[in-house]
Amino acid sequence: MNHMHVDRSLCEKLFQAFHAPGALPSGGVTRLGYSDTEDEMHAIFRREAESLGFPVTTDEAGNSFAVGIPGAPYTLLGSHLDSVVDGGRYDGVAGVIAGLLVMKAMRDAGSTIPVRTAAFRCEESSNFNHATLGSELITGKISMDELEKLRSRDGMPLTDIFHSRGLQLIPQHIFGLLRYLELHIEQGRFLEEAGIPVGIVSAIAAPRRFTVTIVGMAEHSGATGMELRTDALPAAAELILEVERIGRREVSHQSVATTGIVNNYPNVMNVIPGETSLGVDMRGIDRESLRRMERALRRAAGMISARRKIPVRVERLSAREPVPMDPSLLASLRKAADALGIRTMEMPSGAGHDAMCFADICPTGMVFIPCRDGISHNSREYAELSDLCAGADVLLSFLSREI
Ligand SMILES: [Zn+2]
Repeated sequence: MNHMHVDRSLCEKLFQAFHAPGALPSGGVTRLGYSDTEDEMHAIFRREAESLGFPVTTDEAGNSFAVGIPGAPYTLLGSHLDSVVDGGRYDGVAGVIAGLLVMKAMRDAGSTIPVRTAAFRCEESSNFNHATLGSELITGKISMDELEKLRSRDGMPLTDIFHSRGLQLIPQHIFGLLRYLELHIEQGRFLEEAGIPVGIVSAIAAPRRFTVTIVGMAEHSGATGMELRTDALPAAAELILEVERIGRREVSHQSVATTGIVNNYPNVMNVIPGETSLGVDMRGIDRESLRRMERALRRAAGMISARRKIPVRVERLSAREPVPMDPSLLASLRKAADALGIRTMEMPSGAGHDAMCFADICPTGMVFIPCRDGISHNSREYAELSDLCAGADVLLSFLSREI
């Protein structure tokens, strides 16, 4: 089969179609999961898919599916339509548009390969402090206990929101999948710096998150002698620097570590900090590397505590495992890109995606496209639609080689 390409003018049209909901003066968008704005995005998805001749169904968790070519088992393409607060227009939307573009090109070429495009709900953690909710619900990745704890930013229980929307907290699970493929903006700078239009994702990194609490003694900053004080903040400062060192030591394993939160109490000028807590986020695709980083964090906390004679408590908040993408799918996607003369590089995903939920259900793969300066979750997020089309072409080429 000769090279097919997705329709670039349709890409432009679809991108414009998704423009309005949640648009902000900053140029960014706010489209929180399970909000009216997200509903508007799904209504646009339905309208645009149906106008291309693809029937759309909604599942019991509110996710939308456009049927490109009916039949089973089918290839599912997709991503999400919600955003963070003041986020960009490409995160998620790019993958949904890519799905529609690929299906249109396949159908126009007379393909009989069953394919659908999903628009998942609530992929971002911005509304409920919980990510990939729509895809977790239909793949059985979240328990009722967890669901019952979730509250929206406005304090509404998810259970109430689902009830008022007629959605099911225990929805029917998705079935009939042959594979899942997702295009997404990279949200980093590797592709841009390498001048490569398409990344093939090797694995999705898992976050390990910790709260580190350092308990000193809040006392008068003038009246307490230097040798008598137990200052929590300098101990925290040492640990912050150590977290950075731990991350740097694991660079060759593609791991990262950040202290994203500092809470200092009472945080006033004339009081020695009595308690400082840190939020530490470590990510990687290599389990051993993640374990090493956790051990190093605990060891550093112990040493700082002993040396400074100050209690340091490390509490693990979450420890997900990295999610590898399907190796044979990776190889096939690379070959498909090669056939088109599109340069690719293999790379891990530092961010989480809907694809994580599918990797243990069916062969799962992801392609990344560059975003300018690596900026994402920000109104300045920008990707070239030509790169979106190149990424979609890779998916199309991969699927057409099956014909
Ligand atoms: Zn996303």
